[in-house]
Amino acid sequence: MTFRTATRTGAVILLGALVASGCSGGIAERRSAKPVRRIVPATSVRVATTASVPASRLVAWKGPVEHLFFHTLVIHPELAFTSAPIGQGFRDWFVTVGEFRAILHQLYANGWTLVDINRAARGLARVPPGRRPLVLSEDDVNYYDDTRALGLGWKLGLDTHGDVKVEEHDLFGTHLTDHDLVPIVDEFVSGHPLFSADGAKGVLAVTGYEGVLGERVNDRTAPDWSATVARAKALVARLRATGWTFASHSYAHVDETKVSVARLMHDSTEWKTEDEPIVGPTDVYVYPYGAGFPIDSPKIDLLRGFGFTVLCDIDVVPRLTVGNGVTVMTRRHIDGVSFADQPTALAKFFDVSTVEDYAARGIMH
Ligand SMILES: [Zn+2]
Repeated sequence: MTFRTATRTGAVILLGALVASGCSGGIAERRSAKPVRRIVPATSVRVATTASVPASRLVAWKGPVEHLFFHTLVIHPELAFTSAPIGQGFRDWFVTVGEFRAILHQLYANGWTLVDINRAARGLARVPPGRRPLVLSEDDVNYYDDTRALGLGWKLGLDTHGDVKVEEHDLFGTHLTDHDLVPIVDEFVSGHPLFSADGAKGVLAVTGYEGVLGERVNDRTAPDWSATVARAKALVARLRATGWTFASHSYAHVDETKVSVARLMHDSTEWKTEDEPIVGPTDVYVYPYGAGFPIDSPKIDLLRGFGFTVLCDIDVVPRLTVGNGVTVMTRRHIDGVSFADQPTALAKFFDVSTVEDYAARGIMH
């Protein structure tokens, strides 16, 4: 898995690479040798997930809508932020649970409110009076094999109340906790209804080559495949019922500016065949690596033909580009790179100096 971002000029910069280290498989095997499921109430909070501001108290927003995206969260920095190449990838492209919690509190304090991406893309965002709209998205909500044992979550799961949690594996077994973006946002909105307009939470962008949401629904020959599909569908139903929406992040997560139209057709067909039956139809497409196409590209025609009319790339300013039957929305990446390079631009959202976990990242401060 590789993470890149695109500059405004369209040049794609290779920013880092996550590669499976030789020992990670061993760690994974050891940790999953004796699977014991137990739920840890101390860190699993019951959530009333539909808290939101009534529509009658929302006002129309005129102007651009900001959009921030994250990856799944680093739960154990001591396992993730190593000196290995993948460790640098985590430092560059991920944030920790503590950093994300701090960011949410500051977003709220600074007047931001989560809005639905489709409303934002159509210029129909609305917010409580005096507040500002924000689209939140999370990329690669797949819990890839090469990240699981390195201090990140293993999959999403439903607790005994039906709330969405993250499954962690460690030497003591398997636990459902709140240590990931979805449960943290659910809990925060529950306690801060002004933070959500129209019940919106965020956009979950998923690939397909290792299934979705940590469920390997791509492995159709697995003996427990139907149970895997059932778990994934139950998660999707709960997520959609509580304000989350889905986006295609492609099936294979390759740089699509470098592939043929035929290859893109194959990839989109795979997503439609394997992902859409699980997560449902969506008109939102999040370019892998943020690497998008010119608005008049035949690849835009192809994506539109698959129903994708809201396309997300990456930039450091909020911008909607409308044309050729689609709307392209920019997003800001929130991670170690933007903490380092964009503290001034991010100041209206949060104060990097009080958010970034310098100790966990090994940064002298
Ligand atoms: Zn990605």
